[in-house]
Amino acid sequence: MRPAWLEVNLDSLAHNLQRLRARAGQVPAIGVVKANAYGHGAVEIGRELVRLGVWGLAVATVEEGRALRQAGLTARVLLLGSLHPEQAEAALSWGLIPSLSTLEAAEAVEARARALGIRAEVHLEFDTGMGRTGFPVAEAPLLKERLGRWEGLELGGVYSHFADAEENPSWTAEQVMRFAEVQEVFGPGPLYHLCNTAGVLNVSPLGLGAIRPGIGLYGLWPDSGLKPIARLLAKPTLVKRLPPGQRIGYGGLYTTQGEEWIATLPIGYADGMPRLLYNRATVRQLGPDGAECPVVGRISMDQITVRLPGPTDLKALFEVASADFHPSGSLWGWAQLTGTVSYEPAVRLAARLPRVYLRGGVEVGRMEGV
Ligand SMILES: *Cc1c(COP(=O)(O)O)cnc(C)c1O
Repeated sequence: MRPAWLEVNLDSLAHNLQRLRARAGQVPAIGVVKANAYGHGAVEIGRELVRLGVWGLAVATVEEGRALRQAGLTARVLLLGSLHPEQAEAALSWGLIPSLSTLEAAEAVEARARALGIRAEVHLEFDTGMGRTGFPVAEAPLLKERLGRWEGLELGGVYSHFADAEENPSWTAEQVMRFAEVQEVFGPGPLYHLCNTAGVLNVSPLGLGAIRPGIGLYGLWPDSGLKPIARLLAKPTLVKRLPPGQRIGYGGLYTTQGEEWIATLPIGYADGMPRLLYNRATVRQLGPDGAECPVVGRISMDQITVRLPGPTDLKALFEVASADFHPSGSLWGWAQLTGTVSYEPAVRLAARLPRVYLRGGVEVGRMEGV
């Protein structure tokens, strides 16, 4: 295997799922595995979530749903976002549950379902204040009436999405109120779901019929009792002693101060390490002489250079990103240092990184890099 890989701890995934569900009164969860399960590997994570008993999975694109089906997953898969009518056929052919935000999409799915002689389960999304996807709340009665006539559609669920449950309680409360209006129109029956991770953590108990967490499953949320589930590991491909005054890397952005031991790790910005982290990120050498080592010089496409306290051999193991909230050596820390949210470094973890899945400390799955 390539000496740079992502190690994913499935026990932490189970812990996070359990913790989020407990926060929301033990209602079922829809496990959001879009964007390759936020970089963690959609097939393996999806499989594990199903094993852990989620209501279903959610993806953002038909192709993400197709990949789950082609890997043999038969669980419910909700397709998030506003379905384009041209995707109705593909969504149904892969057995996905479309989210509908427009009459055009509803009619396209309905026509396709009737042609197939099936009733297609759909979820309606309502815009309770975010202004992005979803039918206007005022159209709920119209939709209720139309659904009575659309023979090809089966209303499985009704949902909405929070815009800022992280930081804006009054806006969030307004969204909850508008969602209650929608619930009143449709009454008991459909699965109602509203809470993303921030909603679960900040607005609970508001489980409704199900929660819809993404980032929280992956633990990338500090001070919440959730645990990051992945760490990025690498072995050096080269360790050498450089003389004082030696420049390192593209542009020579670092110059050795004295004699320095430098290791080259085979991981770079093409693997998802932000290029902006040059001279700022740190990695941790594991083991008895473990130490925190600064990344020195530019982050290359495929490699980084780190300054060691002394010589080491090529068996040494480095945590390039740890499964915690280290300020300069974790996905969360990288996000802080580059002015973004943890979601972004996570989803940028490249497909070419192998992923190794552990349960009880034992490898139970592996996805080769591509
Ligand atoms: C991505 C997404 C989620 C998950 O959000 P997190 O903030 O990752 O928990 C839930 N619902 C919808 C509609 C989404 O697009």
